Amino acid sequence: MIKINANYLKLESGYLFPEISRRVRAFSAKNPDAKIIRLGIGDVTEPLPPAIIEAMHKAVDQMGSRAGFKGYGPEQGYDFLIEAIIANDYKSRGVSLENTEVFVSDGAKCDTGNFQEIFGIDNVVAVTDPVYPVYVDTNVMAGRSGDADKTGRFSGIIYMPATADNNFVPELPKEKVDLIYLCFPNNPTGAVATKQQLKRWVDYARDNKAIILFDAAYEAFISDNPESIGIPHSIYEIEGAKEVAVEFRSFSKTAGFTGLRCAFTVVPKELKAWTKDGKAVEVNPIWNRRHCTKFNGASCISQAAAAAVYTAQGKKQVRKIIELYMSNAALIRSTLEKLGLQVYGGVNAPYVWLKTPDKKSSWEFFDYLLEKANVVGTPGSGFGAAGEGFFRLSAFGNPANVAEAMERFKKL
Ligand SMILES: *Cc1c(COP(=O)(O)O)cnc(C)c1O
Repeated sequence: MIKINANYLKLESGYLFPEISRRVRAFSAKNPDAKIIRLGIGDVTEPLPPAIIEAMHKAVDQMGSRAGFKGYGPEQGYDFLIEAIIANDYKSRGVSLENTEVFVSDGAKCDTGNFQEIFGIDNVVAVTDPVYPVYVDTNVMAGRSGDADKTGRFSGIIYMPATADNNFVPELPKEKVDLIYLCFPNNPTGAVATKQQLKRWVDYARDNKAIILFDAAYEAFISDNPESIGIPHSIYEIEGAKEVAVEFRSFSKTAGFTGLRCAFTVVPKELKAWTKDGKAVEVNPIWNRRHCTKFNGASCISQAAAAAVYTAQGKKQVRKIIELYMSNAALIRSTLEKLGLQVYGGVNAPYVWLKTPDKKSSWEFFDYLLEKANVVGTPGSGFGAAGEGFFRLSAFGNPANVAEAMERFKKL
């Protein structure tokens, strides 16, 4: 008899986004004339800029010529991309990395989901609440949790509430934990962590021989405004972080690659985990082993496209798109603030996190907004128990649609 991995049965069947689709479909069926505006799912909408398209056309043509054809590339990615990443994203911020510390992949979702595999099953996992569900679900699948309670929290996993009181940057856990997931700028709250706040996490990890998995998928959205100066783009801007942190980056949100697929993970040589009897083990060669065994490299077309993000033209064009999304965020923020709502985020991240009015639950507000304004957002409770009573609006929409959605909010 073939037995299923019983850990999968602990996962809720009604995942957040399918439930949103179900309710929107039901509403549309009853109201076929309603013009629905979607500010829900975190996906980009702007087309890829010309510098990236040009690089891809060139890569495609090479693939059609005997001289330029490429078969399997290095599993870790091509040096031309890794060198551009190191020079532009790290060296410019005072962080030196070797080529072998960067692993190119086809997405930060898989990397953040897969990384836990190389650690023992008996490690204690800590996540923020609300949280990007991938971190939790992959640890549940691996067997690092018990069952979920009514609020969706799994026993055995440490949840660190991110609330308005702590500016959505959680306190250090009271329990001793081994594997800590952090995401700044944050999805869904839009919060950022300062250097001092991140230093406390790095110090905790060093003192407790823990490892931080740092998701920096939204670092490009940190603004250049004076009040955002000093917010770290990389966790390696914190002294000692290379000993205790892995960093995940993605071209998905920063350069519109959600359909194209390219990302990378940084695993420093200094990073150590431990054997049961306390012997230090370098993490980099273990991740390399895992990556090469289960992954055959990102598409060479995607990697050529990603390298174009770092050219002078590419940088300018990508920056313009980020500014377009962030002007959406500013409009959402200012409109809702004027309406007297409590709003967070939207300054250094493409998400606005709002407190639902009149003590509505997250799903009550979802239904209310869909019905009265025909606007779709994301219920905060879908990201964790501490997200109850909050709601996420994404700034990744078309500016005209965002403006129209804000007019509808004013009429509520
Ligand atoms: C969108 C997103 C990613 C990026 O995932 P890809 O697989 O690279 O598209 C990673 N982390 C968070 C928190 C995200 O919201």
